[in-house]
Amino acid sequence: MAEPLSPADFQLAVEHLQKFPHSAPCPICQTALWNVVGLQASSSYDGAGIRLGGMITPTLLVVCATCGYVREFAWLKIKPPSESPAPLTGGGTGG
Ligand SMILES: [Zn+2]
Repeated sequence: MAEPLSPADFQLAVEHLQKFPHSAPCPICQTALWNVVGLQASSSYDGAGIRLGGMITPTLLVVCATCGYVREFAWLKIKPPSESPAPLTGGGTGG
């Protein structure tokens, strides 16, 4: 189930999608009316099952308003994390 977006994040999503207004018709029904549904997170899959504690990939779900076809966009491309990544520490030279 997708999580609904905050109003600010919804605006970010709409602005991102509007960068490509005519280049993205639905591949199924060829219309270009899309609804932003919300965020979903995909978990890592290791070939045998979902790996708990693995990488999580948040994606924005966008659904064709005509036929229901679902598209996913990498959310971190639309809204990069606000905190910079932890700096790399150590050089492995001690000890
Ligand atoms: Zn469609």
